[in-house]
Amino acid sequence: MKRICVIAGILAMLGVGCHMGREVSREPAPPAPAAASNPEMVSQANSLWEGIVAGTSVEPAQGGRRRSSGAVGQFLRALQSVPTDDTILRPKIREAVRQHQDALKQLSHEHPIQSDLEKALIGFQVDEIIRVPAEKIPALASAASFPGAVPAKAKRVTKKIEINTSKPGWDNTGIYSSPESPHWHSTGLYAAPGEAITVQVPESVIGKGFQVRIGAHTDTLWGLGRWERCPEISAEWPIKKTLTTAANASGGLVYIESPLDCRIPTFTVRIKGAVEAPRFVLGETDPAKWRKKIRNLPAPWGELETKKCIITLPSASLKKVEDPVDLMKFWDTMMDRFADLAGQPCERHRAERYVPDVQISAGYMHSGYPLMTGLDMCDVFVDKQQIISNAHGGVWGLFHEMGHNHQNADWTFNGTTEVTENLFSMYAFEKLCNSDPLEAHPALAKGQWKKTMEKYFADGAKFSQWTSEPFTGLVTYIQMKNAFGWDPFVKTFKEYMAPGAQRPRNDGDKRDQWMVRFSKNVGRNLGPFFQAWGIPTSQKARDSIQNLPVWMPESFPPKPASPQAGS
Ligand SMILES: [Zn+2]
Repeated sequence: MKRICVIAGILAMLGVGCHMGREVSREPAPPAPAAASNPEMVSQANSLWEGIVAGTSVEPAQGGRRRSSGAVGQFLRALQSVPTDDTILRPKIREAVRQHQDALKQLSHEHPIQSDLEKALIGFQVDEIIRVPAEKIPALASAASFPGAVPAKAKRVTKKIEINTSKPGWDNTGIYSSPESPHWHSTGLYAAPGEAITVQVPESVIGKGFQVRIGAHTDTLWGLGRWERCPEISAEWPIKKTLTTAANASGGLVYIESPLDCRIPTFTVRIKGAVEAPRFVLGETDPAKWRKKIRNLPAPWGELETKKCIITLPSASLKKVEDPVDLMKFWDTMMDRFADLAGQPCERHRAERYVPDVQISAGYMHSGYPLMTGLDMCDVFVDKQQIISNAHGGVWGLFHEMGHNHQNADWTFNGTTEVTENLFSMYAFEKLCNSDPLEAHPALAKGQWKKTMEKYFADGAKFSQWTSEPFTGLVTYIQMKNAFGWDPFVKTFKEYMAPGAQRPRNDGDKRDQWMVRFSKNVGRNLGPFFQAWGIPTSQKARDSIQNLPVWMPESFPPKPASPQAGS
């Protein structure tokens, strides 16, 4: 399921939103390994190609922005049935690629691709790449723009890397955290575009679901109207033998992926043919070596890593990191605050990942594994003061997406997907940045949250409105937090995870349980408060807390303004 959400306030002002989870629409073209040859499809691919070349497939612009017509998707699907050794259509398109190579090479944020013809050509290149063994994968010309070039003279090395999949800690099962994703183990190595690497593993890990991954940029852009990079630039190879050869036409950081349930103690992989990338691991890397040598290693991307989070960044941003210990301790503290509010211990089995990209599949940022952002955040990630001061303005968004990664379906009933994650943003601003969370977002600041509440009640306190306006829903939680602090939130969130806890069976149950559990934890009856807001709960649930003293915020619900004399 794909969900797109819009964050009101600052992100909305930027014309952006957020998108949860890494599942991505693959329209118009899902290049897949070649399907069986089908003469009808070959003929169809040919006609679609002719149409694209003639420009007859281009649909008029919508809202000033041209979207790829369905013909590109149809063409790329039909292309899957055109055999690799086809001597009619494929040579024609290869020639077209040659003719357009200057435009394809320039593909970037500054020179995006929007035409059907160029999209078809890029899709064709991806189709061709999928068909060849790793040793024959060429470098994609646009790789130099993104994710970046590897200097020709950079030494190709052979390195042994320790992989440990049995790290203790809690598993993230949050609905919007991509809980099903394999875990990525960083290697500090980078495969240059179109250059094969070999990965050697011990016999003992064969057939256990491990994979080699090249590239951290997992978002695909097939469904977007404009492309600022090749729409698919990361790839995985299953590890089926002790030696795996892998390559990526766009290049990328090299990872070993382990399946979710894997708990194998440390083993060693030997990787040959990649270049070294800047990688700092808190508690392992010598910061003096980092400053002197590691941050200058030749790969275009590298990583800052702790046991709790990993930030993938362009080397230009990594070079700015003078004190990686201080920076990454700060990030660890941040992750601990998220764990605190979620009612989880600090030790995590999976380190959460952040990856900036020149273009992502939807929204301004989105949650998941990895959590994706735009390149504008790169220098924010490495600057503690920018985060604390929120000078960039996008820090709420960073916290918001990490909040999505910590949301639990049991206490996130319909209409609160874009609400309860903001509790984490508020918590982080208060505990980490030492600032008033009610001043951290324009939709709340300067008393705006109270005005939002007053308007909601003036409009008749309709639950349908509550569920469709994230910052209206958030006011309900703000009132509870203002009255009782954060402790009952943590205590209540923990209860859902306790062994034998009765978990809600449906959405009504979720609302009931949230009200009842929170009421019991604060020793007050919040039934009338929920009713005043128009949040539906059952009589049975309300009865179960009726012996507690009723709680209502002061002067709540707000009285409608009295009519002006003479009006
Ligand atoms: Zn969101």
